Amino acid sequence: MIKSIVQNIFTIRSVQRTMVNAYCLSTNICWSCNKPLVKTNKFFCVSCGSLQKVENEDFFNLLDVPKTFAVNMSVLSTNFRRLQSILHPDKFSQKSDKEKLNSLEWSSLVNKAYKTLNVPLERATYILHQKGILIDEENTSVDPEFLSDMMDINEQVEAAENVAELEAIASNLNSDVDHLYTVLYEYFDTNDLDKAKSTLVRLKYLLNIDGVIKEKLLKYKLQ
Ligand SMILES: [Zn+2]
Repeated sequence: MIKSIVQNIFTIRSVQRTMVNAYCLSTNICWSCNKPLVKTNKFFCVSCGSLQKVENEDFFNLLDVPKTFAVNMSVLSTNFRRLQSILHPDKFSQKSDKEKLNSLEWSSLVNKAYKTLNVPLERATYILHQKGILIDEENTSVDPEFLSDMMDINEQVEAAENVAELEAIASNLNSDVDHLYTVLYEYFDTNDLDKAKSTLVRLKYLLNIDGVIKEKLLKYKLQ
């Protein structure tokens, strides 16, 4: 009997706690001082200065750059460094465990956002993913002519017997890659997402082969 009363009290307390947590989340209350958070600052409480919990943030918003494929890379890296200079765990070594954890989570989210937006291939994939367009190379149709070209290049790479031959193949490949990047910028610019997707898939094929060439080159150069 007593046991069940105690259990009931625990249950009621845990329900109350859940309600309090839900209330805090919905009304944006600081976890540390319980004062309302000022929305213009997504990281810190204006009242007590403590670092807030990570929220699921869009990578473009997080790094404060316009949501476009043609990102200004120098603004991106400046903003990334600025955020890491205020959110990095090193800055929180003297703070509470809660703030240390928040800093670790913010910092890793900022790293992930930067790594994604900094690489054109990843950035394109991220933008398409946000629009509900998934890149699945296995199930994405690529025209047979392109696939046959890729098989030819793969065969050339396999047959190549020295650095010069590999570099010649790489040089042709790189001009195709450059061309596809140019086209990709145009398709994003005109919001032609289907064409952006097929261009991205082609780019991935070319860059995979480029990776194989680089590995083979490295082996030759180490010999
Ligand atoms: Zn506070």
